[in-house]
Amino acid sequence: MTSLLDRFLTYVKIDTQADAHSTQYPSTEKQLTLCKLLKEEFEQVGLTDVQINEYGIVTGTIPATPGCAAPAIAFFAHVDTSPEFTSVNVQPQVRTNYDGKDITLKEGRVLKVSECPELKGQTGKTIITTDGTTLLGADDKAGIAIVMTAAERLLNSTDFPHGPVKVCFTCDEEIGHGTDHIDLAALDCICGYTLDGDGAGKIDTETFSADMAEVRITGINIHPSIGKGKMVNAIRYLSKFISRLPRESDAPEVTDERQGFMHPYSMSGSVAEAVVEIILRDFETEQLKVYAEKLHEIAKELKEEEPRLEIEIKIIEQYRNMREGLKKEPRALEKAIAASRAAGQSAELSIIRGGTDGSVLTEKGLPTPNLSSGQHIPHSPLEWASLEEMEQAVDVVLQLAKLWGEEVN
Ligand SMILES: [Zn+2]
Repeated sequence: MTSLLDRFLTYVKIDTQADAHSTQYPSTEKQLTLCKLLKEEFEQVGLTDVQINEYGIVTGTIPATPGCAAPAIAFFAHVDTSPEFTSVNVQPQVRTNYDGKDITLKEGRVLKVSECPELKGQTGKTIITTDGTTLLGADDKAGIAIVMTAAERLLNSTDFPHGPVKVCFTCDEEIGHGTDHIDLAALDCICGYTLDGDGAGKIDTETFSADMAEVRITGINIHPSIGKGKMVNAIRYLSKFISRLPRESDAPEVTDERQGFMHPYSMSGSVAEAVVEIILRDFETEQLKVYAEKLHEIAKELKEEEPRLEIEIKIIEQYRNMREGLKKEPRALEKAIAASRAAGQSAELSIIRGGTDGSVLTEKGLPTPNLSSGQHIPHSPLEWASLEEMEQAVDVVLQLAKLWGEEVN
């Protein structure tokens, strides 16, 4: 069998960076290089129904143990890496018997224990870092290596009976399109698990609920030499609009834990028209309406000040807190906790100030909590992964197959 480490090192060296500005799916052709390799590997290790669809999504099945009538479950991980830092020529550095000290990388970058206390717990263990010039891509190639390794072990084990276990590797998660082309009807599972969380032993059971607001202000453009009394400068009013958003509260700079925010993150414009995109985030979906209402109030004030303005506010739904959807199949979470404990972990329930593929899948009707995969400091040249934590995650996947194998469909 190929080792977990060898798999991981093979995957991270393949550049699969996503591109938010692309109009294709997957957003970058290079993701398909890894997708095709994973399809071949599925066939080599012996999964059945192996497929790669026209969008690059790779699926396969570990058939049920003969006579086992347990329901099907699915495991997900994503092949793409973040556009936030380069992934060209990743040179993973395997550090066995890590000494627990700061690690100096190229380009003057230092992975400091003081800034990443989880490193302390890795003393004597094997960690994998970058060389300092790229991201690592453990987000989410750790997840891919974990699921592939668990699939191979499950296929070669007769230790316990299990139901059908489906595996699905997705593209473009980092740009919010990880679930666009997953055929849930074809997967036909009772629940799923994404292997895309940080550290070890955590189970993400809540995510933000998220909307995006696009505020478009239309002014009146005229040559500035004759602008008196005629010009309505959209840029000026957009600036006013943004300055009236809350800043001492409800902003990412001043909130943490369960507090939500409204966050202007992109703007463009000219005298005639200016647009700002504002993301709205909270753990309570209702709060998103309050935020949208606030935007309408600001628009109303500005319209009163300058009736010739046009202000259009478009709210685009992005994803929802998975908490509600997980209630549909409480065993999804119960078994994640039990599997985590059986694998010798603490099973810490956590919330993420963001979304996962699982939040979208849960909303679409497939309850899908997110599990730890040994990755740390994602999207950065300081990214690293723990081999021991990845091994533990393989064990969690196997324990889940075992626990679900005790259920009757
Ligand atoms: Zn990820």
